[in-house]
Amino acid sequence: MSSHHFSIEFFPPKTPEACEKLRQTRARLYPLSPEYFSVTLGAGGSTQDGTQDVALQIHQEGQRAAPHVTCIGTSRQTIREKIMEYKSLGIRHLVALRGDLPNPYGELGEFHYANELVEFVRAETGDWFYIDVAAYPEMHPEAKSPQEDLINFVRKVRAGADAAITQYFYNPDAYFRFVENVRKEGVDIPVIAGIMPITNYTSLARFSDTCGAEIPRWIRLKLESYGDDLDSLRDFGLDVVTRLCEQLLAGGAPGFHFYSLNQAGPVEALCERLRTVGYRV
Ligand code: FAD
Repeated sequence: MSSHHFSIEFFPPKTPEACEKLRQTRARLYPLSPEYFSVTLGAGGSTQDGTQDVALQIHQEGQRAAPHVTCIGTSRQTIREKIMEYKSLGIRHLVALRGDLPNPYGELGEFHYANELVEFVRAETGDWFYIDVAAYPEMHPEAKSPQEDLINFVRKVRAGADAAITQYFYNPDAYFRFVENVRKEGVDIPVIAGIMPITNYTSLARFSDTCGAEIPRWIRLKLESYGDDLDSLRDFGLDVVTRLCEQLLAGGAPGFHFYSLNQAGPVEALCERLRTVGYRV
C-alpha cells in the first residue's frame, strides 16, 4: 500500500461560534495525519488577521500550517511584513495566489499575477518557505485560451513554486490532460488534485459558476433530483467523489488537497472509503 499526498484546507471563521466549530473540526481531522492544513485569505486580502490566527493555532497545535498569501489590493511592503511575520512565527509553508477581487472595482495592488508574488517571496526569503501555487485543469475563467493559461502556469512554477494545488473538478480527464501538458513544458513539480466533497447542491452550483469548475450534466441532474433529501444527495456525492479519487490515484495523481469548508464529516467519510479500498491517504 503506497502513501499518497493528503492535505486539508480551512477558511478563517468570522464568529466565536464558528471559531469553536473549527477547533472541533481540527481536533477530529488531526488524527487523519494530513501533511498540512492550509488557511485561505478572503477576497481582496480581507481576513488577514483571521488567516494568521488560524494558521498560528494549527502551528501551535503541532501541525504544519500553510497560510494563503494573495496580492490583490495590497502592496509589496505589506506582503513583505506578512511573510516576515510568518517566518518569525516558524511557519514554513505558503500557498501563493493572485487572489480574487472583492468586487469588479477593487484595487489590483502592486503585483498583478501570482508569478510576481512567488518571485518576490523567493527573493525576500530564499528557500525558507515551501510554496504551493494554484492550477486550473479546466482553465482559469479569465484566461484568454488554455495555451496562454498553461504558459502562465509554467511562469509561476519557474518563479519558484514547489508544488501546485488544482481548482476542484469532477472530470479526471481534464486533470490528466493538464498534467500531461505541463510535463511537456518540462514542469515536474507535484500537481495535487483539489477535491471538493459534494454536500449541498445550490452552493456548489453557484460557486462552480464563478470559479470555472464544471459539474458534469449527469452529476448536476442527479443532484437536482434529490431536492431536500440531503442524505441521499450526500451518499451519491460521496460515491462520485470516492470514484473520482480512485481514478486519479490509479492514473498516477500524487494525492489530494481536500476543500473541507471547515467540516470534518465529509473529509473523514472520504478518507475512510479510500482507506477501505486500500489507498493510504
Ligand atoms: P494567476 O496565476 O496570477 O493567474 C490569474 C490569471 O491571469 C489567469 O487567467 C492567468 O492565465 C493569467 N496570468 C497569470 N500570470 C500572468 C502574466 N504574468 N501575464 C499575463 N497573464 C497572466 N483566492 C483568494 O482570494 N484567497 C484564497 O485563499 C484562495 N485560495 C485558493 C486556493 C487554490 C488551491 C485555488 C485553486 C484557488 C484559490 N483562490 C483563492 C482563487 C484564486 O485566487 C483565483 O482563482 C484567482 O483569480 C487567480 O489566482 P492565481 O494565483 O491562480 O492567479
